[in-house]
Formats: sequence, structure tokens, C-alpha cells
Amino acid sequence: MKLQEDIIFRIPKEIYSKAIDCVNNAHPYEACALIFGNKEEIKIAENNYRYEYIGMKFICIESDNKSSIAFLIKNEEKLNTIFLEISKNLNMKLLSIFHSHPSGNHPSTTDKKNMKMLEKSNLNAFRYSIWTIMDSQDKSMKGYIYYNNEIYQIQIKREN
Ligand SMILES: [Zn+2]
Repeated sequence: MKLQEDIIFRIPKEIYSKAIDCVNNAHPYEACALIFGNKEEIKIAENNYRYEYIGMKFICIESDNKSSIAFLIKNEEKLNTIFLEISKNLNMKLLSIFHSHPSGNHPSTTDKKNMKMLEKSNLNAFRYSIWTIMDSQDKSMKGYIYYNNEIYQIQIKREN
């Protein structure tokens, strides 16, 4: 998988620890969350931009479902309801769809299908969302984005 160096997801320490709590509370199931914040487009040269996603709000979605991410993705309406509530009240953009894996943090075949499906859906708010995946064991996190019919890994930077 190619690394897209021009997309940086900045995640403050508080968000990171909320993600860890969300994953620990969901155990032994998959955790699922949405991350909101701001997007900045920084011009680095002519026709060349860097995109910075700045995480500001972490919404852990509680679920009794074994696979909450699958549930959420299949329920576009629910996804949209959560999104509308948050964006209206906080005036932030949706940056990322977060979930955990029992081990590892690479997108599964199903994740890849869902990334593609969501990007091609009518839910414009979810376009160019970063999929963040946390390894439940070592709590390491990686980010991915789907565009131009391809999945790229993006850079995650932990901020203090
Ligand atoms: Zn997954």
C-alpha cells in the first residue's frame, strides 16, 4: 500500500487516550467511533497541496453488536444521524471513522469494500474520510484513505 505523505492526521494526546478507552470498553468486541475536527489545505507549491486533518472531538459509539463498524456502515441512516447531530452542535467536520481490530491495524477485505462503498455513496460528508484502525493489543493506530480508486496509507502524527 502506498503512503500518501501529503495527508497528515494530527491527533492530540486526549483524543488518543479516548480512543484507547473506547477500545478497552468495547473488549472483546470491535470498538467504533467517529472523529471530528478541522481540515486545512496548505499550498506547498503551484498545484501542490498538503492536507492536514486536525482531530478535536472523539465520539465513541457504544454498541452491543459484535461488529459495530459493520453495523454502522450498513446503517447509513444511523451514521448520518450521528453526523448531523455532531456537526450541527459543534460546527466541525467529520475527519475519520475509527474502529479496532483484535490484532493488527491494517484494513481487512471488508474494510476495503466499505471504504469504497462509502466513498461512492451519496453521503458527501463521508467523502475523503480517513479510516483509522487501532490494534487492540498494542494500541498502535494507522490511517487510510480511499480516493482515485485506490487505498493509501496516510501519516498520523500524535500531538501533545
Ligand atoms: Zn476492520
